[in-house]
Amino acid sequence: MRLLVVEDDPDLRRQLVSALEDAGYAVDAAKDGEEGHFLGDTEPYDAVVLDLGLPIIDGVSVLEKWRRAGRKMPVLILTARDRWSDKVAGFDAGADDYVAKPFHMEEVLARIRALVRRAAGHATSELSVGPVVLDTKSSRVSVDGMPVKLTSLEFRLLSYLMHHKGKVVSRTELVEHLYDQDFDRDSNTVEVFVGRLRKKLGADVLHTVRGMGYTVNEPDDAP
Ligand code: CA
Repeated sequence: MRLLVVEDDPDLRRQLVSALEDAGYAVDAAKDGEEGHFLGDTEPYDAVVLDLGLPIIDGVSVLEKWRRAGRKMPVLILTARDRWSDKVAGFDAGADDYVAKPFHMEEVLARIRALVRRAAGHATSELSVGPVVLDTKSSRVSVDGMPVKLTSLEFRLLSYLMHHKGKVVSRTELVEHLYDQDFDRDSNTVEVFVGRLRKKLGADVLHTVRGMGYTVNEPDDAP
């Protein structure tokens, strides 16, 4: 899963990026509305954290531009406390949720988890396929109740596929949702990660669909 953080306060931006990275997401960051708008307009994010008070283009305008252009990713806005009119303007512009400043990082993480899973059509924080359970809250994975240790990239890959269970995800799509923009992307490495992941899971749930991509499915529904 890949996120965008648009926040002009450098300390807060750093805190958000590092907390979200620690939670297992690939994260891009923008420091003003112009850069943020461009990234959100050109890169496929699974969710966005958008401050409303931004230099160059304000957050509400950024959001309006995205929505007018048909960009549908879930957006969590950061608003100033006691500015109820900001929240109204944000929701009217297409925001999905908000957090008022100052906030607890745990609340941002929980709201992002909820937005990401709801966008993919899941109601609970635990995703499962066959004996494999991925807890989006703790970022832990288990097979038959036994914990499995994954690297952050392996976790991201599995998390993306499990959020889109039953769907065939192309290698290109996976690469776009696994790495942040500064990462030297190589789609050939995806095959390597899939191989390692399959070995670690040991369960027959992660499949390669020749010429199409990858999918996770219940063992009975193998393609
Ligand atoms: Ca600000």
